Amino acid sequence: MSVLEIRDLHVSVGGDSPTHPDAKEILRGVDLTVRSGETHAIMGPNGSGKSTLAYSIAGHPKYTITGGTVTLDGEDVLEMSVDERARAGLFLAMQYPVEVPGVSVSNFLRTAATAIKGEAPKLRTWVKDVKTEMSGLEMDPAFAERNVNEGFSGGEKKRHEILQMRLLKPRIAILDETDSGLDVDALRIVSEGVNRSRAEGDIGVLLITHYTRILRYIKPDFVHVFVNGKVVEEGGPELAEKLENEGYAAYVKGSGETA
Ligand code: ADP
Ligand code: MG
Ligand code: MG
Repeated sequence: MSVLEIRDLHVSVGGDSPTHPDAKEILRGVDLTVRSGETHAIMGPNGSGKSTLAYSIAGHPKYTITGGTVTLDGEDVLEMSVDERARAGLFLAMQYPVEVPGVSVSNFLRTAATAIKGEAPKLRTWVKDVKTEMSGLEMDPAFAERNVNEGFSGGEKKRHEILQMRLLKPRIAILDETDSGLDVDALRIVSEGVNRSRAEGDIGVLLITHYTRILRYIKPDFVHVFVNGKVVEEGGPELAEKLENEGYAAYVKGSGETA
């Protein structure tokens, strides 16, 4: 049982410090709790700060935390290095979006698994697990020998992210726009991968999305509407249907958001 708790989180970007004239407050007091076994959808218009939330939890150096707390099972996440966050069981789907020249998917995954578990996974079972998960995501086995993210299509990047999640077995997974750029078949395949992790039990999922489309495949327990740097409404899956029909206009009005 794990719990990720975000309390009154404030984050700035731009300039070289939060007091720099170019600095801009993006997150304005985010409160959110994600427990094992729960799936939360964060939905909001473009530019509302959803990715900033994900990057801040990931520990991206561009984002300055100016207030609030993030804890995982009571441990201060904001004090952890990026590696420590991964070892603590946090998985962030945008954590490795960069190309890693000369490092194959296969080596990358094994190195990541070793770093997280503190010892190298047994080769025989590992090779079998990688094969099984790749086949579950309908990935060509040859993909394992390609260099990480080098020339990957949008769909391949997303499958690779979910492959990492399947193999690294995090306690809390944050998936930022995993649905973007996927055709219907790829969306279903990627969603089924996420659902396998949910079915296995203990994972908590924070699914960040602009569109309700992915929620037809991954049914959230909770939906949070995110506008102008904070959660403005919370509900169950029915809230996603309301957004599908009515859009974000009702929330954006009067929030200061222009998009
Ligand atoms: P979303 O993911 O909801 O579309 P983002 O978190 O990407 O929103 O962006 C929120 C706001 O923060 C936008 O106005 C964006 O331009 C700004 N922003 C995000 N990252 C940076 C950055 N590194 N430098 C400057 N502005 C940024
Ligand atoms: Mg965006
Ligand atoms: Mg975004």
